[in-house]
Amino acid sequence: MFRPPMRRLELTNVSHCFGETLAVDDVTIGVAPGEFVCLLGPSGSGKTTLLRLAAGLETLQAGRIAIDGRTVAAGGHARQIPPERRGVGLMFQDYALFPHLTVAQNIGFGLHNGTRDGGWIGRALADMRLAHLGERYPHTLSGGQQQRIALLRALAPAPAILLLDEPFSGLDEHLRQRVRQETREIIAESGVTTLMVTHNPEAAMFLADRIVVLDDGRVAQDATPVEIYTAPADPLIVRMFGPANEFGGVVRDGVLATALGPIPTSEIGNGKRALCLVRADGIEVSVAPPGGGAGFVRVRVETARVLGATSYLLLEPTEGTISERSPSTIEARLPGIHVPPTGSEVWARARGEQTFVFALD
Ligand code: ADP
Ligand code: MG
Repeated sequence: MFRPPMRRLELTNVSHCFGETLAVDDVTIGVAPGEFVCLLGPSGSGKTTLLRLAAGLETLQAGRIAIDGRTVAAGGHARQIPPERRGVGLMFQDYALFPHLTVAQNIGFGLHNGTRDGGWIGRALADMRLAHLGERYPHTLSGGQQQRIALLRALAPAPAILLLDEPFSGLDEHLRQRVRQETREIIAESGVTTLMVTHNPEAAMFLADRIVVLDDGRVAQDATPVEIYTAPADPLIVRMFGPANEFGGVVRDGVLATALGPIPTSEIGNGKRALCLVRADGIEVSVAPPGGGAGFVRVRVETARVLGATSYLLLEPTEGTISERSPSTIEARLPGIHVPPTGSEVWARARGEQTFVFALD
């Protein structure tokens, strides 16, 4: 239905200031033809600015932006290829549909330069099961319908590159998953090279071939979704996926002493400061651990609550080394219903695959 040309997008050593604020700091990102890359990061990390620079809505100050090897903007050069000649499709957070135009007219607005034949809008609407909406106005549509119309409008001119800024943030939680799935199908079918901005790690994990994590204008990690989750390059990336227990201290003899026992720190030298993060999901709790508790620490249950799919436990160590900067309690989230009595003693262990150690020096 869409079949745009597949194009490569490259941002090289891009930096951008707003007055004194360095919003983007020497960022290099490549998106291969047909690839779906997510820019993931907290609010204010520079995601929208990067997207606007790629689109040409913001004048590039430093670095280079190229589409299929052709430079569309270079820092220090006043002349840039304007947005409408970059072959990019844009979709913003608020969809920005024209309120005074019908659905068909909104989509048609994107159809310039004769890129599609006249019947395209009708066929595209029919393909997305939206044919009955063509003559309606945006305010009469649900959030999910508006989202699909905005996506269709962005895809209408057969863009080489699709740029999406928080495309699901306006939707209710229950709608979001369905719309995400539909968006994924539409984009996969079109094969268009896509760069999407989100602050939601789950959306990025679901949609992306590759995730670029931004922190304060810099790239913190550029990797596949599975790598981002299993081998996070920065404490910020561990915290993005939910609560984590954090233990700071000094490495002695290849281990860091924590409230969960000694954690191996093979790559960090003796006497160096380190930070260990153990996801709340990564705490194993047992009443009778195998091997009589080897590798486990004895803990007292302070709180145990069923949250639904998981149970929440707050545990206090009764023994073991607790360093000064470490918290005295441990938060655990266990799948299913697991509510040992308050005040009882159980065993806890940090699962290796959910434990991450970072050098601080
Ligand atoms: P994100 O999309 O990740 O939330 P933005 O790219 O919007 O982040 O913003 C990055 C930083 O640049 C923030 O500190 C923000 O306040 C600042 N900023 C963004 N746009 C402007 C602007 N037009 N004028 C001044 N500062 C801006
Ligand atoms: Mg933004």
